[in-house]
Amino acid sequence: MKKQTLGPERTDVAVVGGGVSGVAIAGALARRGIETLLLEGETLGAGASSAMPGHIFLGLVDPYNRIVTALGAVRAGQIWEISAENRRQVRKRIPPLREGLLALAQKPHELREFEEAFTLLSRHPFPVESWDEKRAREASGSPKVIGGLYDPEGIVIDPTLLVAALAKEARAAGARLLEGIEVEGIESTNRDLQLSTPHGKVHTEIVVIATNGYARRLHPFFGHAILPRKGQFLRTRPLPPMTTLGLHANFGSEAWYQEKGGRIVLGSLRWFEREGEERIWNPQPAARMTEGMITFLREFHPELGEIPLERVGVGIMGFSCDGLPLVGPLPGAPRIVSMAGFCGRGFGFALACAEALAGMIETGTIAPPYRLFSPRRLTIAG
Ligand SMILES: Cc1cc2nc3c(=O)[nH]c(=O)nc-3n(C[C@H](O)[C@H](O)[C@H](O)COP(=O)(O)OP(=O)(O)OC[C@H]3O[C@@H](n4cnc5c(N)ncnc54)[C@H](O)[C@@H]3O)c2cc1C
Repeated sequence: MKKQTLGPERTDVAVVGGGVSGVAIAGALARRGIETLLLEGETLGAGASSAMPGHIFLGLVDPYNRIVTALGAVRAGQIWEISAENRRQVRKRIPPLREGLLALAQKPHELREFEEAFTLLSRHPFPVESWDEKRAREASGSPKVIGGLYDPEGIVIDPTLLVAALAKEARAAGARLLEGIEVEGIESTNRDLQLSTPHGKVHTEIVVIATNGYARRLHPFFGHAILPRKGQFLRTRPLPPMTTLGLHANFGSEAWYQEKGGRIVLGSLRWFEREGEERIWNPQPAARMTEGMITFLREFHPELGEIPLERVGVGIMGFSCDGLPLVGPLPGAPRIVSMAGFCGRGFGFALACAEALAGMIETGTIAPPYRLFSPRRLTIAG
């Protein structure tokens, strides 16, 4: 990485964070002719954006039926449509590694939820299919499943390739993306905002915080609004062929697929749930988590004997307190804008949200469905 020094710099919009959200919003702003400077503390994609298996899901972590119960059918449909639009945006950038995502049920209550979700989703133009035990077992290579919910337009991508493609686009559109520059604080003055970094100050009209799980380090609003959660991914050595689909279970807590060469790539967040704050920031994989993930793979694919690992890594995700992304100006601080809180679904929402947010920064208004993600909803007045 090239050592960076800063001016002092002045820009119209500064984006903090160079994961999928940061590079997507930087590109969307630059394409609108807005002067944009992105500051990434490490390297582009160094956060959760390179620690995930690559599933581009439709919708949120919670299944559709639960979101309909919580928010109503109209809002749930709007959220699912945003992620469908996001997926179209992803497909325009890079070719998928795998086509088709299959949610697997092991227990009757999971199957009941799938059936409920299927009935509700069938009222929309989302091409979802309900699969019986035989079909789900054949397609997943797992003798342990009792049914599935299949999303034929779901895809698995290489997340690193997507971040690189978005970064290239952003640079081509005129955005400056700098690596190795950590923003230490944001100060609001009468004239502008000042970002302090170890390399000098950046003056900007607007700052977009795209640091997801790390957001609370930059603004107190995120202290309650976004909970950092740790996840882990692993890649096995080549194993016998089992499936050509992207698979997921436990309502998205585990997502995996098998590469063409036989390696299984698995991402999971379950066994970290009881971690204390101090251990969340430990960048090392946890042995307990790795064991849990191997046990999980054996549970679904008991024919696997030894599961030799090639790579294990961790990522920090940002979970908003109500399960929806936080996209828009912070309450009481209109020049500080959130592009965070993606609740384990950043690749399913970031591209569509980036377009909407860039439109808002340009014109002052955001397209109606994206108002569901406004951070203002978390205030009493909102
Ligand atoms: C194990 C695992 C499995 C997952 N599976 C899926 C999945 O299947 N599908 C899906 O859609 N999502 C999945 N996710 C979630 C997805 O990875 C995230 O939602 C997404 O990467 C968030 O992108 P981001 O750009 O918002 O954040 P990040 O990728 O975390 O990027 C934030 C960036 O900000 C930088 N940064 C932090 N603080 C500062 C600072 N002060 N100054 C400058 N830079 C800073 C960091 O270095 C980092 O590069 C998974 C995550 C994990 C960990």
